[in-house]
Amino acid sequence: MKILAFDIGGTEIKYALCDESFNLTEKKSIPTNAHEGGKRIIERVIEIIKSCDGIDRVGISTAGQVDGVKGEIVFATDTIPGYTGVKIKELVQKETGIPTAVENDVNSAALGEAIFGAGRGEKSFICLTYGTGIGGAIYLDGKLFTGNSFSAGEFGHIVTHQGGRKCTCGGEGCYEAYASTTALVNDVNEKLGLSLNGREIFERFDDPEIKAVIDLWIDEIVTGLKSLVYIFNPSLIVAGGGIMNEEYITKEINARLQSQLMNSFKKLRVVKAQMGNDANKLGAAYLASKL
Ligand SMILES: [Zn+2]
Repeated sequence: MKILAFDIGGTEIKYALCDESFNLTEKKSIPTNAHEGGKRIIERVIEIIKSCDGIDRVGISTAGQVDGVKGEIVFATDTIPGYTGVKIKELVQKETGIPTAVENDVNSAALGEAIFGAGRGEKSFICLTYGTGIGGAIYLDGKLFTGNSFSAGEFGHIVTHQGGRKCTCGGEGCYEAYASTTALVNDVNEKLGLSLNGREIFERFDDPEIKAVIDLWIDEIVTGLKSLVYIFNPSLIVAGGGIMNEEYITKEINARLQSQLMNSFKKLRVVKAQMGNDANKLGAAYLASKL
C-alpha cells in the first residue's frame, strides 16, 4: 500500500510517501501561504496528490480542531483564515477518488508516538507538547480520546494560577502562560533584563540566575502534570517540543513528580517524544492505512 502523508501547519505543508512498513520517503515541504486561505491550501494539497502516481490512501495531519469522522475543520484560529468549516476529506476524495483520513496535528503526533515511538506497547498515555503554547492529546485503551467536540486534551488551558496571567484563550492563569517555552523565555528575559531565545537560555545554563528561573519554570510544568496524573493515572507521559531535548528538564520532572505524588501514582515515567517531525505524518498515515 502506498500512502501519501501530509502535515499541514501554519507556515509549512510537509509531505512524504509512506510504504506498508511505514517508512517515510521523498520528504518534501512547501510554504503554507496561510494568507491565501484554507480552501486554497487544500486545492494545493489536491494538486500534489494528483501529481503522484499509484497512491492508495491519503493521510492528513492538520492544524485546527478536526472532526476525524467527517474529516473536516471544526474550528481554526486566524493563523489559517477561512479554514473553519473546510471539508477536507470530502474535497480530496471527490477530486482524487482516493480514501483519505484527516486528524488534528497534536492527535496525529500522539498516534505516531503510540504506534511507532515513545508510546509503543502502552495501552494508555498522555502527550503534551511544550512550545509557543502547550498542546495535548489523550490516548486511552488503544485509541485517541477526542471528546464531545473533538477538543479533548487542551492541557495548555487548565488553570494552575487562579486570577493569574492573561492567556491567549481569553482566560487567566492558564498552564501554558506559566509552563510553555514562551513563558520560560519571557520569564528569563523579564527577570534578568536579557533578550535570549530558548536555545541561548540553555547555553547559559551554568549561570545560577538563569538556572534559578529554569527551576521555577520546571516547578510550573510539574504543577500541571500532577493534576493530569491524578486524573488519568497514566503509566507514561510523552513530552514533546524542541525544549525537551534538554535532558535536565525530563530528569527533573521525573524526580519532582516522584517526590510529590501519592504513592499509588508513582508508577509513572515522563519521557521525551521520539518521532520528532515525522510523528504527525506517521500518525496520519496510520489512520489512512486503517480505512
Ligand atoms: Zn488559556
